[in-house]
Amino acid sequence: APRKLAAGNWKMNGTLTSLAEIDRLLADHPAPGCDVLICPPATLVQAMAAKGIATGGQDCHAKASGAHTGDIAAAQLRDAGASHVILGHSERRTDHAETDAQVAAKAVAGHEAGLVAVICVGETEAQRDAGETLDVISAQLAGSVPDCATAANTVIAYEPVWAIGTGRTPTSGQIAEVHALMRDRLSARFADGADFALLYGGSVKPGNAAEIFAIPHVNGALVGGASLKAADFGPIIVAL
Ligand code: 13P
Repeated sequence: APRKLAAGNWKMNGTLTSLAEIDRLLADHPAPGCDVLICPPATLVQAMAAKGIATGGQDCHAKASGAHTGDIAAAQLRDAGASHVILGHSERRTDHAETDAQVAAKAVAGHEAGLVAVICVGETEAQRDAGETLDVISAQLAGSVPDCATAANTVIAYEPVWAIGTGRTPTSGQIAEVHALMRDRLSARFADGADFALLYGGSVKPGNAAEIFAIPHVNGALVGGASLKAADFGPIIVAL
C-alpha cells in the first residue's frame, strides 16, 4: 500500500526566521502518523534539513552540472540535505513554460541523484469546463512521468490549477474520479503502480483535509499556503 505523505510547498515564501514554524510543528507533532515533507525555497533547504524534517526542493535542472545560471542541480539539492524534489508544478509550467518532456527529464535527473520526484499534474479551469480533465491528466502522466519511475522514487500530485490558492476545491467525486484514473494509468504502465503515493493539492486546509483524505486513492496532500504555519499544517498532518 502507498505510504501516506503530508507535503508542504512553501513556494517563494520564507526566510530563516520562518524555521520557527518548523520547531513548533515538530514540538506539536513529535510522532506523526504519516511521512511529513517540507519543500522550502532553495535558500532554506540546508537549514530545513538540519531540523531533521524531510526536505525537498521545488525544481531542479535536467542536467547534472554546467553553465545554467540561477538553476540548481538535483545532486546539489541532495548535497544540501534534500530527499525529494517537486517537479512540474503548474506555476513552473506557467511561469517558465515547462513541458511534460522537460519535467520527465528533470525527474530522471532527480532519480539519478537519489531524490524522490514529486511530479505535479492538473487541469486548468478552461480544460475542466471543456470536459478535457481526464485526457489532460492522462497526457501529463504519460509525458511527465519517466519510464524509470517506481513507487519508491516517485510521488504524483494532482493539483487542479483552478484550485491552487483560490479557496476553491473540487468535489470529492471530482477528486475521486481523477485519482482513480491516475491509479489505473500507473498500474497499467508500472509493475508497482498500485503503490505510488497519490497526493491531492489545491486549497487544502484544516477544515477540508479529513474529507479529502477519505477519498479512495488519496494518499496525502501537497499543501501550499496552509503549510506555512504550524497551526494550519499540524491539523492537516493529524487528519491524514
Ligand atoms: P495552496 O494550498 O496554497 O492552494 O497551494 C497548493 C499548491 O500549489 C501546492 O503545491
